[in-house]
Amino acid sequence: MNCLLCNGQVDQGLTLSQILSFQALTTDSVCSACRRQFSPLNRVKTCRLCGRKLLAAMPDPCLDCEKWRRGFPYPFASRSLYEYNDAMREFMKRYKFMGDYRLRAVFSPILKAELRTTHRLIVPIPVHESTMATRGFNQVTGLLESLKLCECLATRDQQKTGRQSAKNRLTRVLAEQPFKLKPDTQAQITAKPVVLVDDVYTTGTTIRHAAGLLMAAGAASVVGLTLAR
Ligand SMILES: [Zn+2]
Ligand SMILES: [Zn+2]
Repeated sequence: MNCLLCNGQVDQGLTLSQILSFQALTTDSVCSACRRQFSPLNRVKTCRLCGRKLLAAMPDPCLDCEKWRRGFPYPFASRSLYEYNDAMREFMKRYKFMGDYRLRAVFSPILKAELRTTHRLIVPIPVHESTMATRGFNQVTGLLESLKLCECLATRDQQKTGRQSAKNRLTRVLAEQPFKLKPDTQAQITAKPVVLVDDVYTTGTTIRHAAGLLMAAGAASVVGLTLAR
């Protein structure tokens, strides 16, 4: 079997304990050299509200989250599994922007293991119809394949007022809600705890828009989980 990222050989050597345990053996879809390029956030100190890696001098919650706490009307915390480093950036480029759907297998087992025992409704962040048309898949649901999802969110068409990155944070935060509830889904989320799942936490605006909508629609609580931060 070849590594999905570098096409090199994936080492399938079994340890003695694996041989003795008779467990179903799963082989990683990437080689150990590629796997090592990703940086898990569970081994470092992270902000308890946004999951970013905290450097020594940074307070917890971070200053960014302090600002959010003043401006966002609901309690909200999100955590992420990996740092958005060069390897993750390259992965996202190939998976999302070049649309290599096979690459979901690099992280789907890890993300699904995180969510397998959750008591929360799993709500993926949706992609816009136009993205769906060009990419052919939702990169978030791709990573969650075979889990029971509550796909209650859809995107709304927004008036484009210049590039996202060119807007300042306040303009972006105050911009129109990018999501809506799909018809007849409100009853599914009423009084339910929810975990919102996205691929990358960048400014936190997207996931908070979705969290705010779900809270306003009656969810009991909403937390976030993203692959990268
Ligand atoms: Zn590799
Ligand atoms: Zn934070």
